[in-house]
Amino acid sequence: RDDRPTDIDALARGVRAGERAAIGRAITLIESRRADHEAQAQELLVALLPHSGKAYRVGITGMPGVGKSTTIDTLGRTLTGQGHKVAVLAVDPTSTRTGGSILGDKTRMAGLANDPNAFVRPSPSAGTLGGVARRTRETMIVCEAAGFDVVIVETVGIGQSETAVADMVDIFLVLLLPGGGDDLQGLKKGVLEIADLIAINKADGDNEALANRTATDYRAALQILEPANADWHPPVLTVSGLRNMGLDRLWAEVERHRALFTETGALLDRRRAQQVKWMWAMLEERLIAAIRSDPQLGERLPELEAAVREGRITPTLAVKEITERLGL
Ligand code: GDP
Repeated sequence: RDDRPTDIDALARGVRAGERAAIGRAITLIESRRADHEAQAQELLVALLPHSGKAYRVGITGMPGVGKSTTIDTLGRTLTGQGHKVAVLAVDPTSTRTGGSILGDKTRMAGLANDPNAFVRPSPSAGTLGGVARRTRETMIVCEAAGFDVVIVETVGIGQSETAVADMVDIFLVLLLPGGGDDLQGLKKGVLEIADLIAINKADGDNEALANRTATDYRAALQILEPANADWHPPVLTVSGLRNMGLDRLWAEVERHRALFTETGALLDRRRAQQVKWMWAMLEERLIAAIRSDPQLGERLPELEAAVREGRITPTLAVKEITERLGL
């Protein structure tokens, strides 16, 4: 194992030149759990940050089998054909290195994975959602600095992963299947509220009429929701990722969104708000981790937890004792 310190300047130059080996090493550094790697990764990110931010960041969610990888593969190849450089990242807190990720698996996007103008990266290995999301955000910075102008972040609706992805992208797309209500679609409450764009996939063959009806139903359902931005009413489209139908319209909507939100300043506002939210989320995660491993608390934490579980003390009193012991 090579333990020599990484030459961060050289690595940053390699990333900016779009060298795949450098991009790979940068991401490995970001994903590492070693403290010295973390420090190096942060140094690298500071060097790359001024060269990031130019990509359009697109989030895609949908239950397994809805056609995310098929659609991203088709859409991605169309985009690289038009001269774009496309990076595909994934957020899947349930993935493990050994078991392989459900998302971002190269075999699932064979076309795109072999495209010289695309970069497909599986989800960072299992950890807390916060940890996986952080690594994905930082990987996004690497991809942008390397010149990718479209970054697609894919997730399945596990835990709060949709919200985590919506909080790191400019536009959030929800893929659905023809037919079925929200519960049949495995849609969690609140996902439609954060959707900027909805596409009913597999609108091909015998499914076409049903897909059109489903789109009409969702348009009606969205009517009663207050849009997050008064200028943008989330469009509902029908597409076929497999047959490459409707994806041109889908991308046209993404571009319309980008143009409008750039013009009104809403894009900048959204990104700024995301940065601040990210800071607080990370701080929260770090503090909790620090508290859990604090030697001052030691055995007292599991004792308090047991006492709360058995109703011997109130959660409020437990928190009071913990914060007092920490001098907070
Ligand atoms: P994911 O789990 O959301 O990534 O879904 P996949 O992209 O792996 O697709 C799941 C299955 O649905 C595969 O067998 C695909 O071939 C199929 N599929 C994906 N998109 C379409 C589509 O637009 N039309 C049809 N008929 N099948 C599709």
